[in-house]
Amino acid sequence: MNSVYDLDFAALTGLLTGLGQPKFRARQVWEWLYQQAAPDFAHMSNLPKDLRETLAAKLPFPQMTTAADQLSRDGQTKKVLWRLGDGRFIETVLMRYHKRRTLCISSQAGCAMGCVFCATGQMGFLRHLTVGEIVAQVLHFARELAAEGERVTNVVLMGMGEPLHNYENTLTAVDRLIDGDGFNIGARKITLSTVGLVPAIRRYADEKRQTPLAVSLHAATDAERNRLIPTARKWPLAELMAACRYYIAQTGRRLTFEWALINGENDTTEQAQALGRLIQGMMCHVNLIPLNPTQGYGGVPSSRERAAQFQETLAQYGVTSTIRLRRGIDIQAGCGQLRQRFEDEGLGTGT
Ligand code: SAH
Ligand code: SF4
Repeated sequence: MNSVYDLDFAALTGLLTGLGQPKFRARQVWEWLYQQAAPDFAHMSNLPKDLRETLAAKLPFPQMTTAADQLSRDGQTKKVLWRLGDGRFIETVLMRYHKRRTLCISSQAGCAMGCVFCATGQMGFLRHLTVGEIVAQVLHFARELAAEGERVTNVVLMGMGEPLHNYENTLTAVDRLIDGDGFNIGARKITLSTVGLVPAIRRYADEKRQTPLAVSLHAATDAERNRLIPTARKWPLAELMAACRYYIAQTGRRLTFEWALINGENDTTEQAQALGRLIQGMMCHVNLIPLNPTQGYGGVPSSRERAAQFQETLAQYGVTSTIRLRRGIDIQAGCGQLRQRFEDEGLGTGT
């Protein structure tokens, strides 16, 4: 059954008027759900009690419970492992950085793309998340932060899953979150990260959305990219870069490229030069992230020196980049990693 977060405003209005309720009820419920991040109908104090009970029986909140909840040693990163209604697991990570409160959310349980270095890729595809399950991750942390007088300032779709593989549900969830009468986070504050699904990037470009896009490149030659990202074989780099250029042309927006630096693998001078040649002159920025080691992959992160060298080579092509810190390492805050540890410790997965 769909959860209350799976309904758009028109559907909610229809449901309430069908129950003989006045029109303004839908607005009231919507504000409770998305502005107050109410955890249930019982909290909706300006609704008649019998209506609250009827709605609670008709419209469940997403069936998700926190199976594990971990805070990093520095207290800046918090990770929740969710158990979904069908026993699948997903993760959400909150990162505090100066005034920013960035949430890293999941779009699927598992992932079909099989990137060799990624803990989620290593577990394979389980299923798409519903709109409600995507939205609920954000509202949970909104509720927690509100108790401290804070709010979610940024959302990145960089948790488990490939958001553009679950296109409809992910973008419907994004639309829900940016609704000015509801949760009202700015469209520019939600970043989608994709492994590079070419037709989906073109569709996203045509929709001229304001939500920024990041493309996980990781390699600048087809041979190297195919080694790291099996799904890349479907779309050679030439096609991917054409889609990226199309995105920039359609939206006028800068594109971000993600690059996990793996020692001796994709952090060589040749790869940096190939990347420089590939994207020079493009309206883009590169995020260099030293690999987060995972159990199923033997690669090791590049050293600080090699990362700096890579960055310097890119600069020779006029390409700007940032070396990102790995955060929350002590709580396995990398993609899919808490779930992996949970399994290893025999805590059960239900899958
Ligand atoms: N599926 C999407 C979004 C989720 S992954 C994508 O691949 O873009 C979010 C980012 O984390 C991607 O850039 C991905 O390549 C990166 N990533 C995954 N596993 C990693 C690891 N072990 N170390 C560093 N980055 C990793
Ligand atoms: Fe999927 Fe992204 Fe992990 Fe690749 S890096 S397996 S696309 S979640």
